[in-house]
Amino acid sequence: MSQTASQRNPTRAVRVGGIQMGAGAPIAVQSMAATRTQDIEATVRQVELIMAAGADLVRIAVDSSKDVEALATVRERTGATLSVDLQENYRLASEVAPHVDKMRYNPGHLHHHEKEKTIAQKVAFIAETAERHDCALRIGVNCGSVDPRMMERYDGDHATAIVASALEHCALLDAMGFSRYVVSLKDSDWKKVVAVNRAFAQERPDVPLHLGVTEAGMPPDGIIKTRVAFEQLIAEGIGDTVRVSLTVPFDDKGQEVTVAREILRDIAVGRFRSVPPGMDEGLNIISCPSCSRVENERFIELAQDVKTMTAYAKEHDITIAVMGCRVNGPGETDDADLGLWCGPTAVNLKKGPEPLGQYSYDEILGRLKVEVDALIAGRAPHATGVH
Ligand code: SF4
Repeated sequence: MSQTASQRNPTRAVRVGGIQMGAGAPIAVQSMAATRTQDIEATVRQVELIMAAGADLVRIAVDSSKDVEALATVRERTGATLSVDLQENYRLASEVAPHVDKMRYNPGHLHHHEKEKTIAQKVAFIAETAERHDCALRIGVNCGSVDPRMMERYDGDHATAIVASALEHCALLDAMGFSRYVVSLKDSDWKKVVAVNRAFAQERPDVPLHLGVTEAGMPPDGIIKTRVAFEQLIAEGIGDTVRVSLTVPFDDKGQEVTVAREILRDIAVGRFRSVPPGMDEGLNIISCPSCSRVENERFIELAQDVKTMTAYAKEHDITIAVMGCRVNGPGETDDADLGLWCGPTAVNLKKGPEPLGQYSYDEILGRLKVEVDALIAGRAPHATGVH
């Protein structure tokens, strides 16, 4: 089912609870609970649903001490291998670590708190906490939140900054004698995912990689983008664990796992799908897979409605980003032509970097259409040769 060790990069073994990542172990499949963490019943249900679909590991987002309390109860009620996203609040590591098998921190978020401390001091705190509680770590670098120091150093060259940031954090952990970590380098553009993972693996073939196309969007497009990225990387021996990120209703989250298993099975038997013609041309809708930060579940429906409403613009090279929360929404929509992110009662809209305002869930589609029409009026469709 999985590729043999000889076909894969010689990564070292990283133990996460009862599973092993790297060193030729089967590629682990993971997914993330999209429910509000403090809704314990819903979160336990979500974890069990993801495990029943065949996941090796489930991630949960934790933003506050109340989330940690809920996490502790979830931990008691499930035997699943659990990972946690520390998001901006890396200081929660000491509260979180006793309850989980792995923690993910984002190097791009470490500058938010305790500005008097160095990055190395903050990483040391996370590593010591992980060590004390028998946790593995993931250095999770993300296109929407790259370390500003790296962006400055590489003059805004995203891809180079992402790889440099991951390498810097590997070096920090190595220097501390902490080797139980994996790395992820994610972007919503599958080509960039392939490029940055290749570049990283060239430098550090020993470090297990977690692969994923972030904000891949809804099926089937989100699945296709992810499949082509995984095919290219895994065929080259890169990748020890994967997550397929899809914008689907909470009850369908198991699909992230079944799709991942299907892609891995196909790759293992050499069944590759070629890149569909015109895949990167025309309308591109990216949307986040949602997580506990979603404040209004109408987000999923909105993402689907945006896709339906904008179908008439499919020939036009327009990127629309639809994000589930106000925390990461503003940053994660930066590269889109039109960006939407959801609050409890309103949806924010921006055109490139320019905020256009907040609109109710009932108004937003009409307002978005005005902007899509304006963009089309200002551009020729690629069908006419202008691309
Ligand atoms: S954009 Fe917000 S809601 Fe969506 S996955 Fe990221 S943190 Fe979660």
